[in-house]
Amino acid sequence: MTDLHTPYDMIGIGFGPSNLALAIALQECAAPLKSLFLEAKPEFAWHPGMLLDNSDMQVSFIKDLVTLRNPASPFSFLSYLHAKGRIERFVNRKTFFPSRHEFNDYFTWAADQMQDVCAYDQRVEAVAPVQGNSGTVELLDVVTTDASGRESRRRTKDLVLAIGGAPNIPEVFANLRRNSAVLHSSSYVTQGKPKLASAEHPLRIAVIGSGQSGAEIFWDLVNDPAQPNVDLIFRGQALKPSDDSPFVNEIFDSAFTSDMYNRPKAVREAFLTEYAHTNYAVVDGDLIEQIYGVFYEQEVIGTESHRLWRNTQVHSALAVDDGVELTLSQRGDVSRQRYDLVILATGYTRRLGDTILSDLAPWLTAEEAERSYQVPTRDGFQPRIFLQGYCEATHGLSDTLLSILPRRAEEITHSLISGLTPMPKALTAAE
Ligand SMILES: Cc1cc2nc3c(=O)[nH]c(=O)nc-3n(C[C@H](O)[C@H](O)[C@H](O)COP(=O)(O)OP(=O)(O)OC[C@H]3O[C@@H](n4cnc5c(N)ncnc54)[C@H](O)[C@@H]3O)c2cc1C
Repeated sequence: MTDLHTPYDMIGIGFGPSNLALAIALQECAAPLKSLFLEAKPEFAWHPGMLLDNSDMQVSFIKDLVTLRNPASPFSFLSYLHAKGRIERFVNRKTFFPSRHEFNDYFTWAADQMQDVCAYDQRVEAVAPVQGNSGTVELLDVVTTDASGRESRRRTKDLVLAIGGAPNIPEVFANLRRNSAVLHSSSYVTQGKPKLASAEHPLRIAVIGSGQSGAEIFWDLVNDPAQPNVDLIFRGQALKPSDDSPFVNEIFDSAFTSDMYNRPKAVREAFLTEYAHTNYAVVDGDLIEQIYGVFYEQEVIGTESHRLWRNTQVHSALAVDDGVELTLSQRGDVSRQRYDLVILATGYTRRLGDTILSDLAPWLTAEEAERSYQVPTRDGFQPRIFLQGYCEATHGLSDTLLSILPRRAEEITHSLISGLTPMPKALTAAE
């Protein structure tokens, strides 16, 4: 399919929560734009590979797709609860933190109402510049393939990239990328759990990483009916708790974005390091206590089904018959361990140069976006490119999270329609 005659005003790449929030903001402002979002998955799903039972949101439900921008929006989490007939029972639970299953259901409910602006099963493979007679880049061609390999090409004036992070595979596992005994946490539920269910004997599994995903997967595995033996392997001394205390939490307020952006680069870098423990290599406090309890109880009973490898580095990983052999170094003691399955809870990378925008590199003057989330480009390049989730270094730790979605969507909407029409004011509850 090729649709080059009437270019879109805006194409959004990816339809996760960020671009979903943008789609809703555009609709609520009745933005006079011809826009379309392209999503690789066949239907909406929020991190389906980590949709674990018993996992809760790490952000208040008030930080949904819309409320901070427009508390009267029909796309709020409360509107969702009302539509599902659960609003009073949710109140009875007295929690700000719904389960991840419920928030995924909320996102899906909102995405289902936005079907007409999203094309699913459209993986964007490339974005190519379209030059006019003068050599100026006037438009962009967005090239997609579907599951059957069929290619489509659509033309646009502006672009909003919101593709999330790419699984981070440590160098030592680079040669095992295609080995089915090595998985990234992002495919734990979709690929890891079926392996467990079909195993003829209890599997020996290594979970690598001391962040929230590693801890959640470890906890899920030790409670799995297939009764695997699980080793949790990480470089540090201890699983550390995430800090979500109120003063610290203010760094996720939308007003903090400008505060962060206006600081000198070195100050921003020091800040990100100082507050990394709000999001990276940290675990929810309750979960740490549950995991501690697993090892304590093993000591009481005198078993060693599960092991904690702290202060441990993975030196090498080798494919062996039906599994992987890891060479582990724990404070100088080296040992070889064989596993049926290795799960890399090693986070995500977000490097703009490694994304589908790489063909545009000659026109981009910097990888860092401006305050408006727009990527600076050379003279002679007219399309505007906005980034969602790729601005942590400049806009702060909230950039990859849900906290600022509605306000960021509002700002990008404003930029997209500026020059076309005044930004309509969102209704407040009082109005
Ligand atoms: C397990 C887990 C739990 C989390 N829990 C929380 C939480 O509780 N609170 C919080 O604030 N944050 C949480 N986060 C952070 C998370 O990044 C945000 O919740 C949110 O998913 C960001 O939305 P996004 O749309 O920017 O990115 P994503 O949700 O990653 O969505 C990106 C979308 O782009 C699509 N895509 C990628 N490449 C292409 C392509 N080439 N073509 C077309 N489509 C493409 C993907 O299929 C995906 O649907 C969590 C992250 C994980 C991994």
